[in-house]
Amino acid sequence: MLHADHPLTDANTLGLPCVAERYAAPATLDALREALALARRHDWPLTVLGGGSNLILPARLPGLVLQPAMAQWWLEERDDGIRVHAEAAVEWHALVMALAKRGLWGAENLALIPGHCGAAPIQNIGAYGVELGDLLEAVHLVYLDDGREAVLSASDCAFGYRDSVFKGALSGRMVITRLVLRVSTEPRPRLGYGDLAGRLDPAPTALEVAEAVCAIRREKLPDPATLGNAGSFFKNPLVDGEHARRLLAEHPDLPHFPQPDGRVKLAAGWLIDRCGLKGWRRGHFGVHDRQALVLVHFGGGSTEELLGFAGEVAARVRERFGVVLEREPRRAG
Ligand SMILES: Cc1cc2nc3c(=O)[nH]c(=O)nc-3n(C[C@H](O)[C@H](O)[C@H](O)COP(=O)(O)OP(=O)(O)OC[C@H]3O[C@@H](n4cnc5c(N)ncnc54)[C@H](O)[C@@H]3O)c2cc1C
Repeated sequence: MLHADHPLTDANTLGLPCVAERYAAPATLDALREALALARRHDWPLTVLGGGSNLILPARLPGLVLQPAMAQWWLEERDDGIRVHAEAAVEWHALVMALAKRGLWGAENLALIPGHCGAAPIQNIGAYGVELGDLLEAVHLVYLDDGREAVLSASDCAFGYRDSVFKGALSGRMVITRLVLRVSTEPRPRLGYGDLAGRLDPAPTALEVAEAVCAIRREKLPDPATLGNAGSFFKNPLVDGEHARRLLAEHPDLPHFPQPDGRVKLAAGWLIDRCGLKGWRRGHFGVHDRQALVLVHFGGGSTEELLGFAGEVAARVRERFGVVLEREPRRAG
């Protein structure tokens, strides 16, 4: 069923005011294909919406906004291990906790990442040393132009840091309908990141790891339910080795992570903090006072104001360190 002039202000975690010209939330694959066919017939531009936690919405979204509502998940035992099938609208965090409670390892470091399963491959969600690509086996999708179904393997997804084929060649061309993930009953804690190991026994359960991740994240990140935000607003920048050496000579405490290709990943939050911007507020937006990588919306602001504010933060970092920050949340419309 189509809804006209549907409000999306509560459907994006930044809390940006937005109205969709048309909106549908198909609960089956057939309903999804029907909605796609209708959009094709009328030549409506299409926007796919998940949990709205990584999106910058405009004041009005023309055409049709599709928010898949298929929300089943199930386990499959195969000869070579256990698979999880999760439809697009399954809440990612709820799935992670349900798996960890069953003693299934694989997704526990990705606890408390907001959003729906359907969006998780788009930027290859990652946290605490693990990325979705580490456990993803396949992605089921439907192409927008002809309603054709396809299954992509993990290698087809071209996963990188906050990147995938869904942001490249397949951007705006498909709806992800289901994920297939590999999980295991074999304990395999990955505690090498941050202060995770210090908070846990040497042989924790999957649930203990997930709960420790949640506890750390709650200490650092604002809850979108109380303060509008989209998580990290900027990606951690990659610079060439020479640039990194120059910066490190001047700032030996700059957190840095050498990459296999010789480039070096820098901590964007540190760079913003060192510009004196942590806790900085202008108008309706600010830099979070505990995590400088997160921009927050105090309410009453607009998309243009947010983009102007973010541009100012990025300009200060470029002036001080010569490093270009790239935005992480995607713009819709
Ligand atoms: C407090 C907070 C903390 C966060 N922490 C992390 C973190 O640690 N690591 C991390 O990687 N991310 C993090 N994020 C970002 C965000 O949670 C993830 O990117 C998440 O996967 C977005 O899911 P969503 O359902 O909200 O997607 P949306 O914001 O609704 O959409 C994001 C993009 O995916 C597309 N999309 C959505 N669903 C589908 C679908 N079914 N098929 C095709 N395209 C689709 C949209 O068109 C859009 O381009 C955080 C965000 C917040 C608010």
